[in-house]
Parts: sequence; structure tokens; C-alpha cells
Amino acid sequence: MSERRSADDMASSASGGRPGEEPAPDPELDDAPPPIERHDDGVIAIDTLTGGLERVTAGYLIDAPRPTLIECGPALTIDAVLAGLSSLGLDPGDLAYLVVTHIHLDHAGGAGDVAAAFPDATVVVCDVGAPHLHDPERLNASSRRVYGPLFDQVYGACTPIDAGRLLGVSDGHVLDLGAGRRLELLYTPGHAKHHIGVFDPSIGAIFSGDSVGVKLPGMRRIRPATPPPDFHLEASLASIDAYRQRAPERLYLAHYGPVDPPLDVLDEAAEQLRLWTEVAGTARRAARQRGADAQHELDHVAETLQHRFAVELEETGATDVSVDQGRIELLSDTRANAAGILRYLDRLEDGSLTPVG
Ligand SMILES: [Zn+2]
Repeated sequence: MSERRSADDMASSASGGRPGEEPAPDPELDDAPPPIERHDDGVIAIDTLTGGLERVTAGYLIDAPRPTLIECGPALTIDAVLAGLSSLGLDPGDLAYLVVTHIHLDHAGGAGDVAAAFPDATVVVCDVGAPHLHDPERLNASSRRVYGPLFDQVYGACTPIDAGRLLGVSDGHVLDLGAGRRLELLYTPGHAKHHIGVFDPSIGAIFSGDSVGVKLPGMRRIRPATPPPDFHLEASLASIDAYRQRAPERLYLAHYGPVDPPLDVLDEAAEQLRLWTEVAGTARRAARQRGADAQHELDHVAETLQHRFAVELEETGATDVSVDQGRIELLSDTRANAAGILRYLDRLEDGSLTPVG
């Protein structure tokens, strides 16, 4: 099963926005816990069923004396994640931390709902992003602009989190999960300036959010995620390098799952980021030589990227989910990637880009 909600169900929730105001949710989605995968290093992947789709966005539970969830997905499908946590035996007093890699709604949108369901949990977020989870009005408004109808169909609005429940962290912060288990939080901007990666030295695992890119099961190659307004090539490459320095044995992407071998995937991610930026830059120059205005420049760059990087799927094709262009576009939209790279190149040109380091 790849669709948990019919198109009509999705459309009917468009009127509400706030999860509590949704029309009666699909009982199947509420009652049944989402697919849960236990990996051999003890990491438990909970499918957030973002957009009603399986194996698109994962949350990861670290089963330690202080249980910690990394990523929770959007508000609209948070009931699936809560059902997953409950099916794993977590009572309301049990969750110690929710770590969100960044505040984009497909990662942190449901954080307020998780905080409400687990009153002892602390929500851990990059210090740059923390104010926006405390008062999400601007985050919701800008997300609504960026996502358009998908805001109500796929994401839903973020609810505010009390300042006392939020822990804003910077590079090198260590979370003590008990019994010697620690998580090291790494400031890893590039995809977003409010991005952190999570390193678990006890199992050699990196949880990279969107900082490395997107690779759904069935995709042959990792695909960069370079949205506006923050995309920064050198920052992305430095973030990937910070992961490489930890010599990870496992690399968990938010979209989706562990990818192997980690060091090769990191190399490929860096190469793809450089290539996308180069291809976009060449297309931008060509558009400018023809005297294109900003709109046509974006059109041309997006079309060029689309043509060059249409999703390459595994030839075996024997995956249990249908991976198609539309599924990828939900997470790493070509036009948004083009806009992000163009903004980066513009800032590079006018000298307004913040240097790395
Ligand atoms: Zn994402």
C-alpha cells in the first residue's frame, strides 16, 4: 500500500489547516501504527506517512534510558507518529527529547504536537530556529506562501512550543541519553541556516536531515535539496565534510532511511551539489545572454535541471513502493532547487553571501 489517504481525503483537510480542526481523519491512519523498521544498530525508524505516502519521511527513535526521537514530520500526519511511539511502548512521560534537524515543516511541523503529547520531552533545535518554534506565526506564513495548496494538504500548521520546553543548541552540543549514550549535535548549514546533524558515536551513525540530500528507496543517485532562501554551496560542502570527519558507519537520511556505504554517499552528495550548481550557473548565463528577465531565467534554469537530472531509478525496479518524479518533487522540488541556487549565485555576485567558517 502506498497511499493511506485518498485524494479526496487530502483535499477535504485543506479547509482546516490546524490538525485539531481537521474533518474526521481516516480511521485507518489513526488506529494502525505506521510502518516501523528496527535496524541492526538498534535505531527504530518510524514512517511519518508524510503526504499519506510510505517511505518518504522518517522519524528515528533512539532507544536509550532517555528515549529520543529525531525528526517528527509534519503536523498533519503527526497522529501516525504518535501511534507509532505508543505502539513501541512509550507512555506520555517517557520521551526525553525530540531533536529536529531544522524547522522546515516536513521535519519539525509536528513538534508542538509531540511536545503536547509528551509533557516531559524537551524539543532540541538549532538556536537559530528555536524562536520560530516558540512563535511559529512567521514560519507558518512563509511556509504557506512557499508550499501553496500543499501547506494544507500535506503539512498543516506548526503549534507554538513554550520557551521552557525548547533547547536551542549550537555546534558541539552533547545530549546525554543516559547509560553512556550521547548524541553530538553538529551545526550543518547549507540546506538551511538553521540545520543541525546528529552524530551517535556509540553506533557510528549520522542523522543528516536534509543536509546531504534526498534518496528514496529505488533512487539510483542522491539528489541535492537546495531551496531558497538559505542554500549555500560551500556551507553544504563543509557540512558534508564535518560528517565525513566522524567516519560514520551508518548514514540515516530523513528522506529516506539508511544509505550505504556512508562515505561513498557523502562523496556523491558533494559531487551532485557541485554539479547542480554548475549546471544551473551555465543555464543562468545562457538565459542572461538572451536578455531573459528573472522569471524566464528561473524557468530556463529549472527546465535545464529537470532535463539533466530527471530522477534516475534503479533498473531492477523491484522496490515495494512506486518511486516517481512526483514523489521526489514533494521533497526536492526542481523549481525550488533552481530558485535556491539562483539566489545563492546572486548573493555570491553581489557580495552579500556570508562566508563559511
Ligand atoms: Zn525535508
